Amino acid sequence: MKYAVCINHVPDTAAKITVGSDGKTIDKGGVSYVISPYDEFAIEECLRLKEKNGGEVTVVSLGSDAHKESLRKALAMGVDKAVLLKDDSTRDSFSVARALADCLQEISPDVIFFGKQSVDYDDSAVGLMVAEMLGLPSISVIVKLEIADGKVTAEREVEGGREVVETKLPAVFTAQKGLNEPRYPSLKGIMAAKSKPIEERPASAAPPKVEVLGMQKPPARLAGRIVGTDATAVPELVRLLHEEAKVI
Ligand SMILES: Cc1cc2nc3c(=O)[nH]c(=O)nc-3n(C[C@H](O)[C@H](O)[C@H](O)COP(=O)(O)OP(=O)(O)OC[C@H]3O[C@@H](n4cnc5c(N)ncnc54)[C@H](O)[C@@H]3O)c2cc1C
Repeated sequence: MKYAVCINHVPDTAAKITVGSDGKTIDKGGVSYVISPYDEFAIEECLRLKEKNGGEVTVVSLGSDAHKESLRKALAMGVDKAVLLKDDSTRDSFSVARALADCLQEISPDVIFFGKQSVDYDDSAVGLMVAEMLGLPSISVIVKLEIADGKVTAEREVEGGREVVETKLPAVFTAQKGLNEPRYPSLKGIMAAKSKPIEERPASAAPPKVEVLGMQKPPARLAGRIVGTDATAVPELVRLLHEEAKVI
């Protein structure tokens, strides 16, 4: 069985982000980068499937040399092969998906995993676009997965409950928090990953279909106002919430 996981290399969720001087991208200076958290669930699930059913796990990332740091961490977690689709050009979700789909077609995995969303641009688009491009079934936002004799049963989160769905392999999945608890790389894994090769391939070109015109930080929060400290303040508080804040 062949498994493939696509991972993005994104700013640490705790990083303080500022908009770059072009007003269109983030300022990368001083920002530390990590594997996008939902992609870690995807890696863990493929490792567990491999441990149960045998096979090989390949991790793929599209981007600059900096992505090697996340690929190296995936290798330390236990994946077998890492591929960097090397590219520094401007790409949108479609363009990212096109290059990943072309690479995955060559690898021809039975199971293809993505995170449900990349925590940088939050499009939640790439995984399902790749499924469409490859003509494969997809199950998104999964919290449970069972594979037996080529038959797949997955549970996905829906508002207020879970939906149980079936499909056949090959198929594409996007991982939601709760699917599993990602492992930490062991010291042995970290040492072994240092000598594992990262294969570099050119990313296939696909002109972007959307363009980022600008990025803005949310407006600064206004200072709070204390209308009183006992029950006599309640009518004024209600009036302000109704007439000024317009929230009730
Ligand atoms: C080379 C390059 C240049 C870029 N330039 C710009 C730019 O100039 N301006 C700008 O605003 N944005 C830029 N981006 C960001 C790009 O627009 C987003 O990364 C892309 O649209 C994906 O959207 P998302 O991050 O919201 O992914 P989602 O659709 O939220 O991602 C879902 C899942 O897809 C997979 N995935 C996403 N991205 C990658 C990846 N790169 N490699 C492997 N798997 C992935 C992950 O599994 C992820 O969990 C660039 C990205 C790349 C790779």
